[in-house]
Amino acid sequence: MNNKDLLSRSLKSVWHPCTQMKAHETLPLLPIASGEGVWLKDFEGKRYLDGVSSWWVNLFGHNEPRIKTAISEQLDTLEHVMLAGFTHEPVVQLSEKLGLLTGLGHCFYASDGASATEIALKMSFHYWRNIGQPEKNQFLSLQNSYHGETIGALSVTDVAIFKDTYAPLLRQSAQMPSPDARLAEAGESAEAYANRCADFLETYIKQHHADIAAFIVEPLIQCASGMGMYSSVYLKRAREICTQYQVHLIADEIAVGFGRTGTMFASEQSNIKPDFICLSKGITGGYLPLSVTLTTDEIYLAFYDDSVARGFLHSHSYTGNALACSAALATLAIFEQDDVLSKNQSKTTYINNQISTWQGLPIAHIRNQGMVWAFDVQTKNQQFQRDFYLQGLAQGLLLRPIGNTVYWMPPYVISPDEMDFMINTTKQLVMTCA
Ligand SMILES: *Cc1c(COP(=O)(O)O)cnc(C)c1O
Repeated sequence: MNNKDLLSRSLKSVWHPCTQMKAHETLPLLPIASGEGVWLKDFEGKRYLDGVSSWWVNLFGHNEPRIKTAISEQLDTLEHVMLAGFTHEPVVQLSEKLGLLTGLGHCFYASDGASATEIALKMSFHYWRNIGQPEKNQFLSLQNSYHGETIGALSVTDVAIFKDTYAPLLRQSAQMPSPDARLAEAGESAEAYANRCADFLETYIKQHHADIAAFIVEPLIQCASGMGMYSSVYLKRAREICTQYQVHLIADEIAVGFGRTGTMFASEQSNIKPDFICLSKGITGGYLPLSVTLTTDEIYLAFYDDSVARGFLHSHSYTGNALACSAALATLAIFEQDDVLSKNQSKTTYINNQISTWQGLPIAHIRNQGMVWAFDVQTKNQQFQRDFYLQGLAQGLLLRPIGNTVYWMPPYVISPDEMDFMINTTKQLVMTCA
């Protein structure tokens, strides 16, 4: 099959995500033939460094032998069985491990991040209903938040381009000021600004807590709205406030979990225990769709009853898929075998050292948290995002700026040479596209 053929067939038969399909009249789709490590390869053999980890899911590179082996061994025994009334080894092992890692438990599985958000929202509301406070049915989130795009998740998302069209379908929710350090006033530290936002949160929750079920946040980085990073103080305060006023705290670690921010989970940096943690994306190393919502014993026990209706009657067909769980177990094993978090630290230092030598580029707010870097490009080029993306691809670097924010979220296996390529190509692209 040739390349052209695949392109036209894809445009005729596939409705691509997050895309105005007409844009593909001028913007070509890129057919990928294979992947290896941080590289994707097209049908002509041209390579692209996957600087966004295939939408933030890939941790240890494409074609990772240990994850592949785990999946194929699992294929030889059990591919899938429904999880209502049945169980299997990989889902039990994975749940035990995630329980130990997060300090929560009672893993409830789905296949994508948005579903994990839905589950946390429904569980939170249902908890309050089960304990006799059904009026606690409102949700809070942050300005510029992103929690997925199904109708419930979109209700707590605050990204206009994704949300506005569907406004009539969505449930109202309140958005609290974002602690994103870029929004601080001149001279105000990230921490001071985070505290100011937490003060607002406190005032709001103090007034409205009787109606509020939960506050959902992306710990440390608001990724989808442009890699807005904030002080860990905010989450610490949010935990205290939520505890004081009996509001659940939902940590949406779908993007930031599994080492992205330098710790296994971002909320560890605030030393807090959320009431719910949502995980997905990196959980299978980027191999198979899987998501999970974990919660506390207290919440779990409010559902545990002789009455069926007090139980959490939610399900997805592929809940706890055995192949996906085996990929997740292999992913967790790699964290241990390869001492990933401490190796990542030296990569973080390496890249930060390189950027610190940059001079004279039209950029602001250079920021880093673990294995995520971002900066904002000051440009009058209305086509910046598109130019940067296309010229990047031409040079063999896959990056997808969000507006004028350029970010790196590479697979953790990126080598020094590959980091140099990513850094130097980016620098050049900023100069030519700004
Ligand atoms: C990607 C993302 C989601 C949604 O996950 P999907 O698998 O795309 O549905 C939710 N929350 C955050 C923070 C995300 O980054």
